[in-house]
Amino acid sequence: MFTKILIANRGEIACRVIQTAHKMGIRCVAVYSEADVNAMHVAMADEAYCIGPAASAESYLRGDKILEAAMQSGATAIHPGYGFLSENAVFVKACEAQGICFIGPPASAIEAMGSKSAAKTIMEKAGVPLVPGYHGDDQSPEILKRSANEMGYPVLLKATAGGGGKGMRVVGSESEFDEALGAAKREAMKGFSDDRMLVEKYLTEPRHVEIQVFADQQGNAIYLFERDCSVQRRHQKVLEEAPAPGMTELLRQQMGDAAVKAAQAIHYVGAGTVEFLLDRDGAFYFMEMNTRLQVEHPVTELITGQDLVEWQLLVAAGNNLPLHQEQLNLQGHALEARIYAEDPDNEFLPATGQLVYLRTPSENQHIRIDTGVREGDTVSPYYDPMIAKLIVWDVNRERALQRMSQALLEYRVAGMKTNTGFLRRLVDHPDFQQAKLDTGFIEKHRSVLFPVNKIADDKAHFNLAKAALYVLLSQRQQREEDAAASSDPYSPWHTLSGWRLNESNQLRVELSLPDSDQPGIEVVAQGTADGYLLKLGAEKILASGRLLDDKLTAVLNGHQSTVWVAEHQARITLFSESGTSEYLWHKPGLEEHLFEEDASNLGAPMNGTIVAVLVEPGTQVTADQGLVVMEAMKMEYTIRAPASGTITDVYFKEGDLVDEGAQLVAFTADEE
Ligand code: ADP
Repeated sequence: MFTKILIANRGEIACRVIQTAHKMGIRCVAVYSEADVNAMHVAMADEAYCIGPAASAESYLRGDKILEAAMQSGATAIHPGYGFLSENAVFVKACEAQGICFIGPPASAIEAMGSKSAAKTIMEKAGVPLVPGYHGDDQSPEILKRSANEMGYPVLLKATAGGGGKGMRVVGSESEFDEALGAAKREAMKGFSDDRMLVEKYLTEPRHVEIQVFADQQGNAIYLFERDCSVQRRHQKVLEEAPAPGMTELLRQQMGDAAVKAAQAIHYVGAGTVEFLLDRDGAFYFMEMNTRLQVEHPVTELITGQDLVEWQLLVAAGNNLPLHQEQLNLQGHALEARIYAEDPDNEFLPATGQLVYLRTPSENQHIRIDTGVREGDTVSPYYDPMIAKLIVWDVNRERALQRMSQALLEYRVAGMKTNTGFLRRLVDHPDFQQAKLDTGFIEKHRSVLFPVNKIADDKAHFNLAKAALYVLLSQRQQREEDAAASSDPYSPWHTLSGWRLNESNQLRVELSLPDSDQPGIEVVAQGTADGYLLKLGAEKILASGRLLDDKLTAVLNGHQSTVWVAEHQARITLFSESGTSEYLWHKPGLEEHLFEEDASNLGAPMNGTIVAVLVEPGTQVTADQGLVVMEAMKMEYTIRAPASGTITDVYFKEGDLVDEGAQLVAFTADEE
């Protein structure tokens, strides 16, 4: 067995690998970019090497620097994690040339599966069923379009080198074809430096079911059952589970056998995943094989009781697979939710910032958290904005769902937008509960998953009261602390009794909702014997409570409830049973600009590059028409007209770098 390995990755997967390696008594070398000096994976490792600036192309993708660090540290093997160099055959060969073991499949297997088209050709020969489509070498737009026309719409354009849902476009009709092809090719070029495309029949209500396979160097191959990853946004997984609901023994075996056949066809070694689309009628089609450990591997670990990273290390060191197919048992049900820094209400736009407050449910036999960040860390624009994977296990799906819903509630983040509320709505959705799954789940349930008013109005009222109560209690605490520290603790100004001189009159707390143009609401509080009488407009609420660190126990009109509160700068975030709500607290004397929200929605949603300008000064546009296409984090975003009107100015051109918030065009809306 290896005594020292290098982990060529960052974030949660680097931490995950280090954890198992340490358990096995293997020392770990981390590599990091300048942006990750203080990252958790660096802190966990036994030693670490800085390999370059923040941009991945200059650090985590620099195979040469990573190998140099391996040589210098004396590590004899490299675990690539997922993403970055994990499926890069050139890097695997470079490792081999240096006599360093790559913990993963041989370069030839990666090459065979690296192109989705070539993979389809191999699988076709091996007798694995395929989605109908065109995966030929001739890339002329006419051929691509003709094959789409022949297949019949909708079709899916896919980058043959693609991954992570990037470089894909659904095309509903011939008239959309050219624009979609252009966009998919641009995204593919940016993401993979390769814009070759394949065309597939777009199945309308499939499920994404994938099989975990494992093979050793002796030629043994087995499958560790399946995962259902149907719930996706932008063709990217957000919720995964194992086993797949409704799976029959027969289908499991058929898919498992097909997956093992796929692995054997390319002389696979190590952990791999064969992805299938499962159609309503039970037919399944090979989509692609991922030649690495998947993000969602924990659900498989929880239902099989195996540690897949340990398996990877054992197999890479030349051992046989730890178990035979018949020795594997499937137990209970596991779900994984990917917690992202992103804004579900704004096309899941990645968010960045500091995790000023981060509290999680406690880990136990039912709850596991795989993460690479701690409170105070930053989610930077350079890398994937995933904060953590929340994984739950229980004896059956129903109980696992209940645990997940509760655990999501207990996963509290302030400092940036996250998808936890959205995930909870997903998990609680009756159709999800009944496992009515397909890859269009999120689209289908838009109105429930993206409610306009997240918190019903009556609750909004009470939430506002709680926020005001928090302000009042924390101010009182502050005064108490000041009094205790003061040279004259008995000064009447530090009186601690409930009814006091300086609160005998009215206290005012001004709060407003962020991201809204509604004026602030002034809550007027009058001291009572044990609390306050709060006036919120015409409403009156009797409020009292206790504040212990971030836990507020509030009694409003005789009803007691608990909320958790994070306060950062002028933002107050309340985490309650009904969800998360945020308020801006207008502290007297605080600068106004803290409360100014970006009035223009024609600004850059984040730092990025302009890839296309679709309008010029004078262009008449209709509502929702695309104006500018931006690229950030290898994804394209189209900035659209908010209403019909005229473009009066365009401030950037193709190729320009823009900062978040920068106004991209000037626009005058038509008169009503
Ligand atoms: P990537 O490698 O970028 O993840 P995949 O080929 O694995 O791309 O596809 C990602 C997702 O896109 C699938 O899980 C599925 O939801 C959807 N998808 C892919 N191909 C098809 C298809 N032919 N019909 C319908 N949906 C598809």
